[in-house]
Amino acid sequence: MNIDIPRNVCQVIKKLESQGFEAYIVGGCVRDSFLGKTPKDYDITTSASPEEVKKCFDDCAVIETGIKHGTVTVVSEGENIEVTTFRIDGEYNDGRHPETVKFSKNLLDDLSRRDLTINAMAYNPRVGLIDNFGGQSDLFSRRIVCVGDPAVRFKEDALRIMRAMRFSSELGFEIEENTAEAVHKMKELLSNVSMERVSDELSKLLMGESPRNVLTGYSDVISLIIPEIKSCIGFDQCNRYHIYDVWTHSAYAVEHSVPELEIRLALLLHDIGKPNCFKLDDEGNGHFFGHEKLGAEMSEKILKRLRFPNDVVERTAKLIKYHYVTPVNDQKVVRRLLAAVGEEDLFPLLEVMKGDNRAKHSSCLERVRVLEAMGERAREIIEQGMCIKIADLKVSGNDMIELGFSGAKIGEVLKSLLDAVLDDKTNNTYDELMEYAKKFF
Ligand code: ATP
Ligand code: MG
Repeated sequence: MNIDIPRNVCQVIKKLESQGFEAYIVGGCVRDSFLGKTPKDYDITTSASPEEVKKCFDDCAVIETGIKHGTVTVVSEGENIEVTTFRIDGEYNDGRHPETVKFSKNLLDDLSRRDLTINAMAYNPRVGLIDNFGGQSDLFSRRIVCVGDPAVRFKEDALRIMRAMRFSSELGFEIEENTAEAVHKMKELLSNVSMERVSDELSKLLMGESPRNVLTGYSDVISLIIPEIKSCIGFDQCNRYHIYDVWTHSAYAVEHSVPELEIRLALLLHDIGKPNCFKLDDEGNGHFFGHEKLGAEMSEKILKRLRFPNDVVERTAKLIKYHYVTPVNDQKVVRRLLAAVGEEDLFPLLEVMKGDNRAKHSSCLERVRVLEAMGERAREIIEQGMCIKIADLKVSGNDMIELGFSGAKIGEVLKSLLDAVLDDKTNNTYDELMEYAKKFF
């Protein structure tokens, strides 16, 4: 099987070969090429030492990206290509970083240190595919398998536990039995890995095509990162709209939503407040009053702890806080919702609500159509420039001062005027608003 390699990448390989070195594309780009996906970038692995690579490309721009780890970035036709010397990782004592990095003259050494068989293939147009660990066969049988003994590999670097789960979600591949067993058994080692790296892999996992099976099948691992989900796992909602327990429902909701980080984080955590808000009524139906507010508060804490950037934390919490609005395609309702969350967050909120309803009893699918229609209506409201915020009012703070209001009262009156406009109690014209404002003396 041949792989089409971009011309500039080929040139780098040829140049290294012309100087007597071996060079291959390796890792993600080989995997993605076999899957028919366009690789994000092409990494090259070579027998040349970093100094030799630098010398080889002394006529192009070269960046010493990570010389210590063997990586030199060669700028070829304006694009950065990472060229890394064949490496053997030394002992891992902290479960994070190898103590030493040794360079090698043997490609197999370099492939053996890689995490998964599908990520441990190298390719060179002249030599063809080098696949000592059965990566191609695992790609075709859609399996995630560690290179070597999974328990040993996870002990070296526990991030690989998350990477196995992440690739399973991204590619929709099953994690092979031995690797899966080690994921469960070695999960506690994740505490050695920095929160940023764990969150980064968790984000990629959530953004994958098949996160549901990973979230439900490896909920024990997710519980270590987010202990708050423990009470959601298996929690029976006792509610006719729900066919799944809280955690399974959340996993379905993530999978059935558009792949945007805040939307998927919100769906992951949208019902996290439910177990604490659970009440059974006399007929035996479960209710969860206030779970959206509690969920928003809990999520803010969780996402901060996971070191997500502040804007992601705030937006996600906001989406959770408002996810429990009953979908009604009515002018007033949509205007109210727009006023409450703002133009920018309304559309992601509708996506959250769609994901939520797609993960319930099939009778809730009707609501997805209502939410679509609400989105259409919101677009019209915005296009027509209808009033949805204080700044849209045809009167200002100065007008209120002119009427005789002062201090905090000015803001209060403007807020009340906005409410009145949203409720169709007055038109948004200068004269009518000035008249209406007099009620608030
Ligand atoms: P992506 O498309 O998400 O970038 P990738 O496979 O290129 O996927 P990277 O994180 O860019 O993933 O890593 C490049 C390669 O380095 C991997 O394909 C794998 O061979 C190797 N690798 C990365 N992280 C590890 C790790 N923690 N342990 C062992 N090998 C790793
Ligand atoms: Mg990569």
